[in-house]
Amino acid sequence: MARIVMKFGGTSVADLERIRRAATRVKAEVEAGNEVAVVVSAMAGVTNAMVKLVSDAARLADLREYDVVVSSGEQVTSGLMAIVLQSMGVPARSWMGWQIPIVTDDSHGSARIENIAVDDVVRRFGEGQVAVVAGFQGIDPAGRITTLGRGGSDTSAVALAAALQAERCDIYTDVDGVYTTDPRIVAKARKLDRITYEEMLEMASQGAKVLQTRSVEMAMKHHVRVQVLSSFENSPGTLVVDEDEIVEQALVSGIAYSRDEAKITLLRVPDQPGVAAKIFGPLAEAAINVDMIVQNVSAETGRTDLTFTVGKAELERAVQVLRSRQAELKFEELRSDANVVKVSVIGVGMRSHAGVAQQMFTALAERGINIQVISTSEIKVSVLIAEEYTELALRGLHTAYGLDAA
Ligand code: ADP
Ligand code: ASP
Ligand code: MG
Repeated sequence: MARIVMKFGGTSVADLERIRRAATRVKAEVEAGNEVAVVVSAMAGVTNAMVKLVSDAARLADLREYDVVVSSGEQVTSGLMAIVLQSMGVPARSWMGWQIPIVTDDSHGSARIENIAVDDVVRRFGEGQVAVVAGFQGIDPAGRITTLGRGGSDTSAVALAAALQAERCDIYTDVDGVYTTDPRIVAKARKLDRITYEEMLEMASQGAKVLQTRSVEMAMKHHVRVQVLSSFENSPGTLVVDEDEIVEQALVSGIAYSRDEAKITLLRVPDQPGVAAKIFGPLAEAAINVDMIVQNVSAETGRTDLTFTVGKAELERAVQVLRSRQAELKFEELRSDANVVKVSVIGVGMRSHAGVAQQMFTALAERGINIQVISTSEIKVSVLIAEEYTELALRGLHTAYGLDAA
């Protein structure tokens, strides 16, 4: 007998037929003698529709009320899943985040889980009951509903698995595992049997949607055994593991992309000490994250150009903040571009091998793709390119690093 967490994403609970299919898998685990907690997302499309309702209602909505609205999709699916399980003869009940409770901080819209009390759930496991937990939601210290950021049900599942000291956390989704890159864009993408926590973390934070970044952080910290697998097929999925569990390490194990970034260039800013601090200070105060940064050497003496990226959703605000301080910052012109994509190659093998970046630049150059900004870290190289080249770049890099499926 084992204790397991099974998480079903939006496409896996998109209608009653799929909920029944997911419930059949739950039933099989229960019949195998396991104690099961199920975490469900909202039905596919429902969260998006509610996000739109909120933004149509008010341009800058109160985030506490945003959470009340967008968390509701998970309430529906958890109730439906419990009903379907019961109708199959499996004792089950639903749990909202506040009922467990899953306590978070008060960062509404992207709250962090602080504590999960599992006593009641465990007691009911003892009575043979399945816990169906609404993903994505929690409760803050003031007693208000919070949500964990888009894709947050993954984090609900991993956090619950950690709190329950579960043997496994199975993430059922619409692909049968983690691939070398998004299989919906690159047909030759290959499914990975295993991926390290570190690489998965980098893949997720560079845009691979398959797991929410925070869920991977959480799994890494608490050594949760996460498996990503298909809710439609019975094939084995991808295990996220420690580095020493991987025998043969590829140089590059994955390629991720993110369309969520936008580029800002400040032309002809004074080339003096303190200028960068002056520019990035106000952005930080406005809670705008800056990702890639490059300062160009300008031909003109005493002046330079500064290029950086911010989240696409924050572009308008960032431009406003900077323009309102143009006199103080002394730049001559501000240009912004939302039609960019960040493409990243990732692999722990990079730590011990040179030339990965060079290979990337060559592959892009051969396809006539201009690189606008570059940034690197220990296990990844990222470039910013024009959005129209996303597919061409992904396919080209996938081939160049020898990742194509046979
Ligand atoms: P769910 O609703 O089950 O949470 P998501 O849409 O959040 O599913 O995540 C699954 C999607 O992630 C896949 O449909 C796929 O298009 C995308 N994806 C991006 N990169 C990868 C990758 N490297 N491997 C697998 N899927 C990926
Ligand atoms: N329903 C939420 C979303 O669409 C959470 C999730 O699916 O993980 O972002
Ligand atoms: Mg998801």
